Amino acid sequence: MKKVIPIEDRRTAGRVAAPPFVGGELADTRGRAMHDLRISVTDRCNFRCVYCMPREAFGADHPFLPYSAILSFEEITRLARIFVELGVGKIRLTGGEPLVRRDLQRLVAMLAPLGAELTLTTNGSLLAKQARALKQAGLDRVTVSLDSLDDATFRAMNDADFPVAKVIEAIDVAAAEGLTPVKVNMVVKRGVNDEHIVRMAERWRGTGHIVRFIEYMDVGSTNAWRMDDVIPSAEVVQRISARWPLEPIGANYAGEVAERWRYADGSGEIGVISSVTQAFCSTCTRMRLSTEGSLFTCLFAQSGHDLKALLRGGATDEEITNEIAAVWQRRADRYSEIRTGETAKLRKVEMSYIGG
Ligand code: SAM
Ligand code: SF4
Ligand code: SF4
Repeated sequence: MKKVIPIEDRRTAGRVAAPPFVGGELADTRGRAMHDLRISVTDRCNFRCVYCMPREAFGADHPFLPYSAILSFEEITRLARIFVELGVGKIRLTGGEPLVRRDLQRLVAMLAPLGAELTLTTNGSLLAKQARALKQAGLDRVTVSLDSLDDATFRAMNDADFPVAKVIEAIDVAAAEGLTPVKVNMVVKRGVNDEHIVRMAERWRGTGHIVRFIEYMDVGSTNAWRMDDVIPSAEVVQRISARWPLEPIGANYAGEVAERWRYADGSGEIGVISSVTQAFCSTCTRMRLSTEGSLFTCLFAQSGHDLKALLRGGATDEEITNEIAAVWQRRADRYSEIRTGETAKLRKVEMSYIGG
């Protein structure tokens, strides 16, 4: 069992010399605290999901980051410790596909003692083999992306020659290893997989796993996003509720991304993530660390803040702490609240690079 250090103690026991906290918490210009850190451990992936890394843009000649440019596990851990000292209570490893990074369980073992909740988002293709080692290293939970239960649709969405049965098997293995509750993420794209919403809900009802239906977003600038392709979460809830009545339930914690609904018959819950139709920027507590060590204060940011130069230039922990705090304190992001057809065309950083 990991020892969880209360946030208050982390702040006072850490090395933060002059904590720039407002009302007890590090706050941005809109009064939002920094609670979550998403770490992209690689910009590479073995899938080519059409909504994330379309093959036309991420082909064989795509210039992925060289190894020397990406943060080492030691560098990531040093930064993560500083983030935890600044109030982060939840760390999510992501990418790209985090499980293509060699020896990821070693990073998990280095991060686990920090005391933050430690989770991982994966496409599931390499999970069955690694689940036990990840759990033993201290990973708490996993989220597995799965856009359809139907092989042809699954392949059409992820554009990789990988059988959906293997992902489903990986979900079972992860659950058996105790990486629970397993969350299953389905990005819903109109006309592509929306016919599979009810089947997806049915497959995981009563299993203890939580399916989350994600509105297709205009992340990056390569997926040719159109509003017409978005199925609003309200419609998802309506379609499932028509079969098995759903009722809303409260968030587990302030700033939770998914809106929670439970089956009235007690068969568990689902979540909907409505970044497009119901922006949740006002409670957004997430910071992102890119594969090469840049900080992004929003999923839709156009640029980041370079921490790698500080890390490799000999900066002290205190200097890095102050830089991170200053970036958060200047933060004013609210992209989803101001999204238009025009903003969707802006050149934004790709999700596989800053971490989903
Ligand atoms: N490769 C891992 C995976 O697929 O789970 C982790 C990284 S992926 C970028 C993280 C999450 O972002 C996945 O659940 C994926 O489905 C979601 N995602 C990617 N592009 C998206 C988009 N355009 N709209 C909504 N969700 C998206
Ligand atoms: Fe890879 Fe995940 Fe993006 Fe799909 S969503 S291309 S699996 S990083
Ligand atoms: Fe947070 Fe940016 Fe998403 Fe708004 S658009 S919820 S600020 S990541």
